[in-house]
Amino acid sequence: MKPLAGILALQGDYEKHRKSLKRLGLRVRYVRSAEDLTGLAMVVLPGGESTTMSLLLDSTGLRAPLHDAIAAGLPTLATCAGTILLARELQGDTGSRKVDPLGLLDATVDRNSYGRQVDSFETVVEIDWALLGVDDPKPMLPAWFIRAPRILGPGPDTHVVARYEGEIIAVRQGNILAITFHPELSRDTRIHAAVLGFGTA
Ligand code: GLN
Repeated sequence: MKPLAGILALQGDYEKHRKSLKRLGLRVRYVRSAEDLTGLAMVVLPGGESTTMSLLLDSTGLRAPLHDAIAAGLPTLATCAGTILLARELQGDTGSRKVDPLGLLDATVDRNSYGRQVDSFETVVEIDWALLGVDDPKPMLPAWFIRAPRILGPGPDTHVVARYEGEIIAVRQGNILAITFHPELSRDTRIHAAVLGFGTA
């Protein structure tokens, strides 16, 4: 049977990730309760609004089971708000309803850190595919940044996979790939495929 990919679907950009995963030929399940985590080959934490997602992790009872599944090695792709949710520490989180991050990614993540004037843009970025266990002759990848965070001070086991204008935009830590941009807005599925591959490496 085809591998089953889960997408945290409490809020945000989960539908676009479904399209990317379907394009790869995977079965896809929206994760909205602890039971939905059973049998997954990978999980995606999508972009959206991290404050809302953090609150919904609590009200759905998903926080502990999701934490434990990722900590146990489930291949995980976190994009944008998903990366904020995984962080050990947050900066720039000035709202009254704060995000309570899962603390699984050894880095500080700075929310909305590109400022108002350039808060969203599309570009092409260079990925270190070898760090993802992929032999890829075409390093460049289309990337959308939407009110993106910045990854700061990654720990010793958190490897920088890509930078854009000097800023860290993608890191790998074991079974986790955390990125600050949106790969699901293009037809390029190599990022999703690479994370699925973490489970078989
Ligand atoms: N700015 C959002 C947040 O802080 C993240 C934006 C995104 O996921 N595209 O949660």
